[in-house]
Amino acid sequence: MIAMLKCYECAENGANEEAVAVCITCGMGLCMEHAIRYDLSIWEGGYPAPVKILKKGLPRFLCSYCRDTIIPGACE
Ligand SMILES: [Zn+2]
Ligand SMILES: [Zn+2]
Repeated sequence: MIAMLKCYECAENGANEEAVAVCITCGMGLCMEHAIRYDLSIWEGGYPAPVKILKKGLPRFLCSYCRDTIIPGACE
């Protein structure tokens, strides 16, 4: 029995939002509001992220924590 994945960031705020994506680096469940999608071109710049374990064509989603950690200067 697999439970429905919930957004971790919403859960931290006491909300109960269904996850629509998963962070590629930490596996955190993310809702539409919290999932951060990056275009493939960004990942082709040689960032030392573990994206190479993923097959080509998959969407890349990050949580805000990993976004701030992996992508320098990407903070809003
Ligand atoms: Zn959320
Ligand atoms: Zn993450």
